[in-house]
Amino acid sequence: MAIERTFSIIKPDAVAKNVIGEIYSRFEKNGLQIIAAKMLHMTREQAEGFYAVHKERPFFKDLVDFMITGPVMMQVLEGEDAIAKNRDLMGATNPKEAAPGTIRADFADSIDANAVHGSDAPETAQQEIAFFFTENELCPRTR
Ligand code: UDP
Repeated sequence: MAIERTFSIIKPDAVAKNVIGEIYSRFEKNGLQIIAAKMLHMTREQAEGFYAVHKERPFFKDLVDFMITGPVMMQVLEGEDAIAKNRDLMGATNPKEAAPGTIRADFADSIDANAVHGSDAPETAQQEIAFFFTENELCPRTR
């Protein structure tokens, strides 16, 4: 399996619940390394730009409104099969459908306030990492 990088956000609801460390622990215990991290209270423009692929969707405005309610913790994760592994750890978009033991099953309240974001494919991972991080902010252990 290939070593991949993926982009992850701990959303405002999970930051407010003070579970950044618990979520980081799940990443690390499952073989994902945090190779960059940044805490940010996004502007509306940043949230709209980040979620531009969803701009025609009915939930777009609510999603942007929610993402700017408080600070988020964003990170780049690196490891074998990192994109799919992170999606498995996150669980389904709707926490009611998320498998037991996943981050969303344990920490999310609703489909809107669902604790985490994770890239869904290599192309989106690359775009999302580049949206918030410069190349020299990435600190892979191999460098
Ligand atoms: N979302 C929402 N209502 C919906 C579908 C999605 O509020 O009916 C939000 C939710 O926060 C989700 C984000 O939009 O995490 C992006 O949706 P996507 O389908 O890409 O889900 P994800 O990849 O985050 O599981």
